[in-house]
Order: sequence, then C-alpha cells, then structure tokens
Amino acid sequence: MRDFTYLRATSIDAARQAAAQAGAVLLAGGTTVLDLAKCGVARPDQVIDITHLAGLGGIEISNGGVTIGALAKMAAVADDDNIRFQCPAVAESLSLAASPQLRNMATIAGNLLQRTRCSYFRDPGAFPACNKRNPGSGCSAIGGVTRNHAVLGTSESCIASYPGDLAVALVAFDATVVLGAHHVPIEEFFLQPGVTPDKETMLQPGDIITAVTIPASAVARNSTYLKVRDRQSYEFAAASAAVGIELEADGKTVRDIRVALGGVATTPWRARAVEAALLGKVLDIETVEAASQRAMDDAVSQGDNHHKLKLAPRVIARAIQTVGGLL
Ligand code: FAD
Ligand code: SF4
Repeated sequence: MRDFTYLRATSIDAARQAAAQAGAVLLAGGTTVLDLAKCGVARPDQVIDITHLAGLGGIEISNGGVTIGALAKMAAVADDDNIRFQCPAVAESLSLAASPQLRNMATIAGNLLQRTRCSYFRDPGAFPACNKRNPGSGCSAIGGVTRNHAVLGTSESCIASYPGDLAVALVAFDATVVLGAHHVPIEEFFLQPGVTPDKETMLQPGDIITAVTIPASAVARNSTYLKVRDRQSYEFAAASAAVGIELEADGKTVRDIRVALGGVATTPWRARAVEAALLGKVLDIETVEAASQRAMDDAVSQGDNHHKLKLAPRVIARAIQTVGGLL
C-alpha cells in the first residue's frame, strides 16, 4: 500500500471540497476502500474520513416513505423494524449481504458504491488489461473465465457484473439517491459500461451521498429478496431478485408488481418486461414461469456464464411465487 494523507472532515461542505480534489477518496465504513487499496486498485493520495459527520446516520419514516442516512450501518438498517415493515426486500438484501462483521462497519452509501468482483479488475499485477481500471487497456475477462460475469447490460468494453444486493432492492422500488438538495432516481444513478466502464455512476468529483429514500407503496410492503449463491453465507449473488407484488381484492390478480435482478447484470437491473407480462394477470405457477423468462430477452452470455440465462428466471419465478402466495 502506498502513503496517503488523512483528513477527518468536520462538515459535509468541507468533505465535498476535499473530495473534489484529484486523488481524493471518501472513507465511510472503509470496507471497500481498504480492500481495493490492498489489492492495488485504489491508489488514493488523500483519504477523507466522513464517519463522524453528524446527521447522516438516521432512519426516518414518514407517510411518504423511508429516508435512510448515507452513514447508516448495513446491520442497523437490516434490523430496523420500520424498514422490515415498509420494505422487507431492502432489509433482507442487507441481512443476506457480506458478513456480520462487515455489516456492522459498512454504510448504505458505501454499499451502493462498491466495485465489481471481476477477478481481473482486482488483480492489476497479473492482468494489466482492464478498461474499467485502466481505460483503453482492453478487457482480460472477455475470452477468459467468465462464470461470475454479466449477461445483461454488457458492452464490448466490459462484462463485469454489479455485485451489491441493496441496490437491487432499491431499483425495484423506485428509490432515489440524495446528494444534498439533489434527488437522483436510482436507475439513473448507475451507468451501464458502454465505452466508458470506468464511469460507474453519475457522481461527479466532490459529490456526497447524504441519504437514500424509498417511497411508501403496497408493492414495497409485500416484497422479498431472494439470493442464490455458491455457498449459503458470506458470498456474492450468482443471481438474485427483489420482487414486490400488490394483488387485487380477489387475492390472485396482479394490480402492481416490481422485479429487479442482481448478480447477472452490469448494473442493478429492473426487469420491466417481466412486470409487463404479469400486470393484470391471474397468478399461477405456469404464468409466472413464462413471464420470468422475459428477463433474459436481451441477455448475451459469454462462455462460462451461460448458466445464468436459466438461473436468473428461476430465481425471479421463485421470488414471485413466494410473495404472490403460490408457495
Ligand atoms: P467505503 O469502503 O467506506 O466506501 C466505498 C466507496 O464509497 C468509496 O469509493 C467511498 O469513497 C464511497 N463513499 C462512501 N460513502 C460515500 C458518500 N456518502 N458519498 C459519496 N461517496 C461515498 N456487499 C453486498 O452487497 N453483498 C455481499 O454479499 C457482499 N459481500 C462482501 C464480502 C466481502 C469479503 C467484502 C470485503 C465485501 C462484501 N460486500 C458485499 C461489500 C460490502 O458490503 C461493501 O464493502 C460495503 O458495503 C462498503 O461500505 P463502506 O461503508 O465500508 O464503504
Ligand atoms: Fe475489467 Fe470489466 Fe473486463 Fe473485468 S470485465 S477485466 S472489470 S473491463
């Protein structure tokens, strides 16, 4: 690890100013920053510690929905009774992520901004070619081992999957990312790789996430997060789905539905084709399975990740059947 200077920010404005400088990086829980510094991907000149900033760690509930402060810990949000009631998928996405130790350290904003687990990205010594880490250098993954890579939203420059769980649940329920006075719909916050995979979000230097908001809705209240992975804990998603359903008074016709996917796309991925295929339909197992296939309409596999084309629809179908009362 190389030397860097350390600044403990005393206000959000001071943190913004410092973070706007080239080579600066914010430190919240530090679990991504230190990880990436240790493997040589992050090479900060200055680390700006925002852990002690006041007013960014709370969880507020109102009639309009939930506001979660950027510095709220993953564990605290996962265990919060109001979050578990207003949006169980969000609480479940957090409690299924990482490990208890990490969840006690890591923050909500830091979680959104974690970087891909593409093993080529994380090994600069062995794999210099990585367009995300070193723009224009090529992609070591394409033609390499791609078992964990994305099948949706990829480009010729990068096929890395977005690894986080929370953002998938937030995308399903139209959350916004709050940058002070500015609210950004979360689907616009994350950028697909295109020809600039190094640019992962719409954040500009000096931008600080202050909160995340989730609007109150019946679909969010009746929701779940299903995560399938190689082992049952402390593992990233091979495929995951956040699903919420509101049924008509008959208890079987879909009035509203939200479906988002994780582990298979370059960004947290809203599966609108699945939603459209089920809106107004009577839920039964066959209809749900057929609709879930629509999530893969535009998917492209690369070598070893072909299994995701089958896995993802199954995960979606199981999640829909769970919240739709079919199981
Ligand atoms: P930090 O490391 O402090 O920051 C991360 C990034 O966000 C940095 O670039 C920082 O500058 C920026 N940042 C932080 N706060 C702000 C802010 N307010 N405004 C603007 N920028 C900000 N995650 C999952 O979702 N699922 C998993 O299964 C999972 N498994 C994991 C397993 C391991 C072994 C590890 C190490 C991590 C795992 N993670 C997983 C990722 C983990 O959840 C993240 O490392 C963590 O959430 C990051 O939060 P942090 O507060 O520590 O962020
Ligand atoms: Fe880099 Fe993306 Fe290729 Fe991985 S998939 S090596 S992150 S360019």
